[in-house]
Amino acid sequence: MLELRNVTAAYGNIQVLHTIDLTIHAGEIITLIGANGAGKSTTLMAISGIVPIRSGKILFEGEPIQKLAPEKLVAMGICQVPEGRHIFPALTVQENLDMGAFLRTDTDAIKDDFDYVFSLFPILAERRHQDGGTLSGGEQQMLAMSRALMARPKLLLLDEPSMGLAPLIIKQIFDIIVKINKEHNTTIFLVEQNANQALHIANRGYVIENGVITISDTAENLLKNQDIKKAYLGI
Ligand code: ATP
Repeated sequence: MLELRNVTAAYGNIQVLHTIDLTIHAGEIITLIGANGAGKSTTLMAISGIVPIRSGKILFEGEPIQKLAPEKLVAMGICQVPEGRHIFPALTVQENLDMGAFLRTDTDAIKDDFDYVFSLFPILAERRHQDGGTLSGGEQQMLAMSRALMARPKLLLLDEPSMGLAPLIIKQIFDIIVKINKEHNTTIFLVEQNANQALHIANRGYVIENGVITISDTAENLLKNQDIKKAYLGI
């Protein structure tokens, strides 16, 4: 579904991604793990067209997408849930979700998707007329994910969904990620500091260090890898 070939990216003169190569197949949950500042968010933002790449290629379903604008990528089926959620605080839950469906015109299917996200996160249905900014951190994460789902993504990019949340809420969010993948046929690319939990739901994982992919393996093998255990799992 997605292929990054020799992708490099920089902020001004500072190069932060050096030849990133990775592949995501339809239906997979893939996680990208790495230390603070390794380049995880930049990788996601390169895919979603927010950070322009300096060289290399990004292919989505075989088509080069590295020059396309973010809104075009959303229309093609790539949606990102950014780190820190970035919901619209002054809009209601309902209005935030409307924004997710902004590019769509299939009114009946949009209604089905409202029902779907409310079935995933019933608390959002209860709070649908409440301003987004008044929600708890966990509820805002649910809203950010739901807003992305309202665009009917084929590939959902999740940046640190567990950040700042209590363990019980994190478990709930991770369970829902699996559900979205299995029941809604959505491919997931998950960036996480919480490597242990991410690897427990992923099929495969990549490790990024200083803008370079250093390890790629099945999640099962990564969980057993001594270097990964020491560096990222705290074992
Ligand atoms: P974290 O887990 O802390 O978010 P990360 O692995 O997602 O880290 P990135 O956010 O991609 O890492 O950052 C990679 C490097 O790029 C870091 O050195 C960071 O300081 C730098 N960087 C990120 N955003 C910008 C920006 N807008 N301008 C300049 N440098 C940036």
